Amino acid sequence: MLTQLRNIVQSVAVSADLDQALHTLVQQTCLAMRTECCSVYLANFEQQSFDLMATQGLDPSAQVSMSFGDGLVGVVGQRAEPLNLAYARRHPAFKPFPATGEDAFQSFLGTPIIYRKKVLGVLVVQQHQPRQFDESEESFLVTLAAQLAVVFAHADAQGGWQGTRSPILLEGMPASPGIGIAQAWCDESQPRLEDVAPASSLDVSRELDRLDAAIDEASTEFRRLRKRFDKELQKDALAIFDLFVHLLNDPMLREDITVRIQQGDEATWAVRQTVEAFSARFSLMDDPYLKARADDVKELGQRLLYFLMAPAGSAPAISSPVVLLAHELTAGMLASIPRTLLAGVVAEQGAANSHAAILARALGIPAIMGVSFSPSRLHHKTVILDGHKGILMIEPAEALINEYQQLVQEEASLQSTFETALASPGQTQDGTRVEVHLNAGLSADSQIAINQGVDGVGLFRTEVPFLMLRRFPSEDEQVKQYRAILASYPDKPVVMRTLDIGGDKPLPYLSVEEDNPFLGWRGIRFSLDHPDIFLIQVRAMLRASIGLNNLKLLLPMISGRNELLEAKTLVSRAYQEVSQEAESTGESVNIPMLGIMVEVPSILYQLDNIARDIDFLSVGTNDLTQYLLAVDRNNARVADIFDALHPSVLHALSSIATMGARHQLPVSVCGELAGDPVGAALLVGLGYQQLSMNTRNVAKIKYLLSRLPHEALVVQANTMLTLDDPDAIRASTEAFLAEHGLDALVKIGQMR
Ligand code: PEP
Ligand code: MG
Repeated sequence: MLTQLRNIVQSVAVSADLDQALHTLVQQTCLAMRTECCSVYLANFEQQSFDLMATQGLDPSAQVSMSFGDGLVGVVGQRAEPLNLAYARRHPAFKPFPATGEDAFQSFLGTPIIYRKKVLGVLVVQQHQPRQFDESEESFLVTLAAQLAVVFAHADAQGGWQGTRSPILLEGMPASPGIGIAQAWCDESQPRLEDVAPASSLDVSRELDRLDAAIDEASTEFRRLRKRFDKELQKDALAIFDLFVHLLNDPMLREDITVRIQQGDEATWAVRQTVEAFSARFSLMDDPYLKARADDVKELGQRLLYFLMAPAGSAPAISSPVVLLAHELTAGMLASIPRTLLAGVVAEQGAANSHAAILARALGIPAIMGVSFSPSRLHHKTVILDGHKGILMIEPAEALINEYQQLVQEEASLQSTFETALASPGQTQDGTRVEVHLNAGLSADSQIAINQGVDGVGLFRTEVPFLMLRRFPSEDEQVKQYRAILASYPDKPVVMRTLDIGGDKPLPYLSVEEDNPFLGWRGIRFSLDHPDIFLIQVRAMLRASIGLNNLKLLLPMISGRNELLEAKTLVSRAYQEVSQEAESTGESVNIPMLGIMVEVPSILYQLDNIARDIDFLSVGTNDLTQYLLAVDRNNARVADIFDALHPSVLHALSSIATMGARHQLPVSVCGELAGDPVGAALLVGLGYQQLSMNTRNVAKIKYLLSRLPHEALVVQANTMLTLDDPDAIRASTEAFLAEHGLDALVKIGQMR
């Protein structure tokens, strides 16, 4: 049975089109189950019906379309479970379709084809003889339907069943908020790295010259782009161009390509292999940000290829606004179209953390990524791109366009309203101070956006420099990086977190194989096992802080007091060493405040015991949610149950705030929840007075707080602690925000 099942799924998957796939499916299922009839009905969501798409046994020319909930097929779809009947006709929902020749069949077994809770269709087998299908037949059909669902879902996203119906809605990941309404536009003429075939050349020096010229041209282009965006973008976003130039001049990358050329490879083929090898290193990482660096390396390769192939002519001229569609979005593409003509971007590949996405956000261009589609099929069609929800509507009705146009206007006026809050200190309507800090460190560049509207840096993640190299960064290299950040905020606190490496962010030069990386050698566990690396990092931070005195040290993944004490001993040692060195040159170094991340649930029960050992707490709601709910934060399959508004997370947050207050320990929240309007409102209501978030959320959250009275926030948060449903908590808090005049903000939604 298993082999038959695998064979059917494989034949379906390799079929040239869906039509052929469905015919193969019904034929092979009949054979495998030794049944006389097999039919497949697919859901037509536009018409709200199940349509007969292929059959073996019924009359294939019969046009059968059943409304959802109609007939036996409708029952299967509605209940989303199999229906096994010896006498189909006796079932109250039975609906005859004489044209199909169905009369000849007595027994019926139908099973839904479900993908991510959505019934995509129904698979039916029938027999002349009245008999109930046995358990093994039923489980065969159920297993087959489950496997087919994935194939069908993909086919649907690619262009609709049988290519007759175009998709009307495509879903992806929200990568940059905002709404774009325009004609879709794609340029398929650019050479693609994946299309480069193996090729060799005997003329090594010619190929090397071509490579040099392409590297020069690409470097010039990136420098030009950087200049062009210099005024529009913050430093964090501009860093991508520096990163590209840096990578282009990286001797290792050049050497890798050169060696391949010297071994006889043609330049384009050498570039493809090297770029793929480099990007594979990043794509193996679980951390979504670092995974996204794989795309940056590919983009770089793409540009090199472009210059190597020296295409004739320039990009086609665009005269009216477009929504740009691409397999892979690149910074160059974003730059090639004037901002005023770029209404939005949609990409098949990439993630919300890719640099192209960061750029799109910084430029205020709505974007969605990870959309399963063929760009060329949508070329020139009118689309609405909703970057908040991550959806693309194709050829929408006039009424929908009007509605969205209104939203666009509301959004524009809302954003300028938010900006007004930036200059004033973060506080609630009645003046309760709430510090708003910045999360930073995701840039490979040592510079970060200097945001005047913040009270400091609440979380500086230090992983990236460790991951960008092929070895541990030296102490001096680290000092340089950290100093640049501390110096950017001379009068404000900067919380630097020690290395949170391992598990989900493996170092390319230290391979660790683990079954459960999130529960493995991560964060402080790694640092304590490698005091050498930890000491160097802490020393570098301390040295960087000399004269600036705004450093605060944060330890990730602390799960108990012993770890904390061990880490503190090492921090003291580093301090003694740096202090002595500083003294010898007449300088002095301040002892930084020391805090821990509250993100491993076990530490919740130890806070009273460790309060005297630390100076502050910082709650990492991303990991706290992951570990409390046992939901992998990077797994798309369980993404809908990863919810920081889960009542258990809220109760944990409430008790952390209470314990912090009891011990007079400042407590900040630096997970994504702090930048979410609903999350920020609840956190302040629970007693938090420090929130740390990404740049893009700062103005919005400051504005939100300025409109809400503190007392009302407390009441709302306490009421939410009595609820047991995350959706109800969100809905109620959104209603609360709307009552306080923030309905537009709620409507526009929150982008993670
Ligand atoms: C968190 O876990 O919430 C956090 C802020 O840290 P990171 O996302 O880097 O794990
Ligand atoms: Mg964390």
